[in-house]
Amino acid sequence: MAKHIVLASALLIVAGVSVGAQAQAPASAEAPPQITVIRAGRLINPETGSAAANQIIVIEGERIREVGSNIAVPPGAKVIDLSKLTVLPGLVDAHTHQAITYKEFPENNIYYYTYIADSTPLRAIQAASNAMQLLASGFTVIRDVGNNGMYADTALRAAIEQGWIPGPTVIPSGLIIGGTGGQFFPTPEMYKLHNIVYPEYLDANTPDEIVRAVRENLLFGAKTIKICVDCKPWGYSVEEMKLFISEAAKGGAKVDGHVQTREGGQRAIDAGIHVISHGQMLSPEQHTQMAQKGIYLASTDTPFTPYRGSEQAQKRTADQLRDAWQKGVPITFSTDMDYWNERMKKANGEWMSRGDLTINFLITWKAAGVPPKDILKALTINGYKAADVYEERGPITAGRYADLIAVAGNPLEDIDALRSVQFVMKNGSVFKKDGVMTIDKLLNPGPINGWRRR
Ligand SMILES: [Zn+2]
Repeated sequence: MAKHIVLASALLIVAGVSVGAQAQAPASAEAPPQITVIRAGRLINPETGSAAANQIIVIEGERIREVGSNIAVPPGAKVIDLSKLTVLPGLVDAHTHQAITYKEFPENNIYYYTYIADSTPLRAIQAASNAMQLLASGFTVIRDVGNNGMYADTALRAAIEQGWIPGPTVIPSGLIIGGTGGQFFPTPEMYKLHNIVYPEYLDANTPDEIVRAVRENLLFGAKTIKICVDCKPWGYSVEEMKLFISEAAKGGAKVDGHVQTREGGQRAIDAGIHVISHGQMLSPEQHTQMAQKGIYLASTDTPFTPYRGSEQAQKRTADQLRDAWQKGVPITFSTDMDYWNERMKKANGEWMSRGDLTINFLITWKAAGVPPKDILKALTINGYKAADVYEERGPITAGRYADLIAVAGNPLEDIDALRSVQFVMKNGSVFKKDGVMTIDKLLNPGPINGWRRR
């Protein structure tokens, strides 16, 4: 009998029911949440591309309580004076990979050699560092879409959600699901004898395997499902992609397709996929279809810099981006920023951070001639929607999480103002102030937000 009671208690704990709750202090006896008031010199609404002067933002705990110009500061509130700065929602990179960094040496930029040399634990630690570097540059949401070893991406999300380390809200995909081989071209012996494709890719060739693969990723913490639409000539059919979409929906996830051919792009559009990644071969007519269907584009627009790319490639990319913007595609800011070399330095000789390297993709957007207000919308509103967090995060309005940043100057006039983020708040906690990280207050000895948070 006693054994049964113990078992029943254990099940209740697993089921999320607190045993002996009556013995605990009632919630009302807990310290009230911290009230923080921000005085914003200028507050941008990227949805409308407009700005309002001298706004007050009241934050209660993790969320925004009130926004306006005529609000009295509540007694006991902590006041943060950003009256000389422009405040705006945090930024979104809609396609990145935190737990891989491929290099010129020793792997000659071939990332499946990186996967042989760098273990998942090492890559997870890289991811923790990268995520903090991105947050310091104002990125409060990132879609991390695969190539993260054995689920380093979902572990990164869990560590941030539980409160071990500060970081952006991570929307991880888990493993990229593809037909035989994923994006790799292994030898028969490496494929058959050493199973080298896994865990960088999860093979799924039949409807049963597709269902199983989606469920595995969801079980291990994926919040979106990333598939190879056309990495190989066999690719996925419209029907197969519809199966991905319906199965992912059971776990609240939407589907992102890696697209590298026009035919693959058409199948993804016809299936009604949520996000098309890359899509550099899409035609103007296909951009129009995407606009009509509301399919997000994460075209990973690599700029020409001393450390990467070419003038020709940037021109092609910018031409594609301009066409997508002109056709009204919901475009996102997306990078694929997952490599490193020794030329990634500023004029003063300091290393560029992963955040500096990410925001540097503005070069391509400016080359495409997209106006600042639409770049800002791609960096925020469209990114939040592609990440499927828009109801909770994004515009600075009452009820949403307090994820906001501040810069000098006005990004609606000069988008490069975003290159120097002075202030970052994530879930109501200050991560950067006066251009300096305050990370000492945001590292914790345990899962302070709860071990169940994933
Ligand atoms: Zn990628």
